[in-house]
Amino acid sequence: MQMYIGGAWTNGRDAMDVRNPYDGSVVDTVPRGTAADVDRALASAVRGARAMAALTGFERYELLHRTADLIRANADDLATALTNEEGKIIGEARIEVDRAAEIVYLSAEEAKRLDGEVIPLDGGPGVSGKFGFTMRVPCGVVAAISPFNFPLHLVCHKVGPALAGGNAVVVKPASDTPLSALRLVELLLEAGVPAEAVQCVTGSGGDIGDALVSDRRVRKVSFTGSRDVGERICNHAGIKKVTMELGSNAPVIVMPDADMDKVRSVIPQTAYANAGQVCISTQRVIAPDPIYDELVEALIPEVEAVSTGNPLDPATGMGPMIRESDAARVGAWIDEAVSNGAELLVGGERSGQMFQPTLLANVSPDMRVSCDELFGPAMGVTRVADVDEAIALANDSIYGLSAAIFTQDIDTAMRFARSVDSGNIHINWGSQWRTDLMPYGGLKDSGMGKEGPKYAVQEMTEHKLVVIHE
Ligand code: NAP
Repeated sequence: MQMYIGGAWTNGRDAMDVRNPYDGSVVDTVPRGTAADVDRALASAVRGARAMAALTGFERYELLHRTADLIRANADDLATALTNEEGKIIGEARIEVDRAAEIVYLSAEEAKRLDGEVIPLDGGPGVSGKFGFTMRVPCGVVAAISPFNFPLHLVCHKVGPALAGGNAVVVKPASDTPLSALRLVELLLEAGVPAEAVQCVTGSGGDIGDALVSDRRVRKVSFTGSRDVGERICNHAGIKKVTMELGSNAPVIVMPDADMDKVRSVIPQTAYANAGQVCISTQRVIAPDPIYDELVEALIPEVEAVSTGNPLDPATGMGPMIRESDAARVGAWIDEAVSNGAELLVGGERSGQMFQPTLLANVSPDMRVSCDELFGPAMGVTRVADVDEAIALANDSIYGLSAAIFTQDIDTAMRFARSVDSGNIHINWGSQWRTDLMPYGGLKDSGMGKEGPKYAVQEMTEHKLVVIHE
């Protein structure tokens, strides 16, 4: 596919291959954009932002609503394309497409709700005869930088709210999975979005990222990706609004009073979906001594039952990882854990990019499979003495995106909710759960700011204060 800059589909000087993670075949090629392409995209986006700001809320609603209809109408093709570029199983790809449409419908609704408030200025000492109110106005140009693992869903979480708020948006999709973002641009244009209001520059983030995020024409950066790239972007962004949706090593505590039928069926779903390449994948299972052995025994057959294979085959339970180097890294971390005393109960083998669903026990908190973000299909169980140690361990992380507890005791659940530093808290589910209208974002090094269209529109607009003096 070509990239979309300045209101036209365009080639770059060089191209890069997009490969199917399952069989290594070349799915398509995209241009390798340069800093000069970013510059052209931004010059055009400034005009696009003026075009968007001139539309009424209802007009923006209509554009987004039509886009969501088009996503639904093209759902089968989009899902197959998603599986081919990302490697997730086709069932998960279909869900991603459904959710992408839902995000754009939600964004359409938000386009009608850019409100302000009346400020009671006469509450200030000595103030009378003044009338104050706020207006919400677009930021202008939003840079949207997305990761490989949800190539459509996460792009919609940025593009939908950006356009709803009356901005133009410059998308920089992940180099491994740029095709879904380009398909989305086609649908936005078909729906009637002004030609310069959306731009999509493909190419290596290492080559073009600094040029994009440091440019003064960009008034807001919305980034989803790894912690280290996020930190670099914060260092280069300068004075502009920034939202950071970063990684985690999500903890899940299983208390002795947990509903074990639910635990055994839910935890594996929340660990191995998308081959564990989800920012809120269950990674650290924490079990007090009285339940530890029973839990480990209960999980073994469930993990063994997750099949791997061709992600387009509806019978496959888990597909490949995105890159062979990442699968090799997961293998190295598991080997290191085993050589330091962890028990390998299920999996651990790799063939190319396909890593078998893996269960480790006797994991200690200082092992990399526990203290770093693994981002692969493995979880480790750690034994603790009691709930105090479990909560302390859940918090013993630089991350804080999602955390979960299984317990039947309301006091324990509420204590967990209050004391664990995490943007999302789940009680009686695994760490991986999201519906797209909720506020979603991390604490600590998992980031700042929230997504979910209602919240993202807030972050992609500015407040102006107006005072009328009698
Ligand atoms: P990544 O390596 O950080 O890449 C994310 C995006 O940043 C890609 O588009 C990448 O481009 C670009 N990029 C790379 N260097 C850049 C730079 N210097 N300036 C600007 N952009 C740059 O992450 P990933 O491997 O694609 O995704 C996995 C990570 O995303 C995990 O840490 C995961 O937890 C996190 N994630 C978080 C959430 C959340 O909502 N919190 C959701 C999903 C994923 P290239 O592809 O060209 O390198």
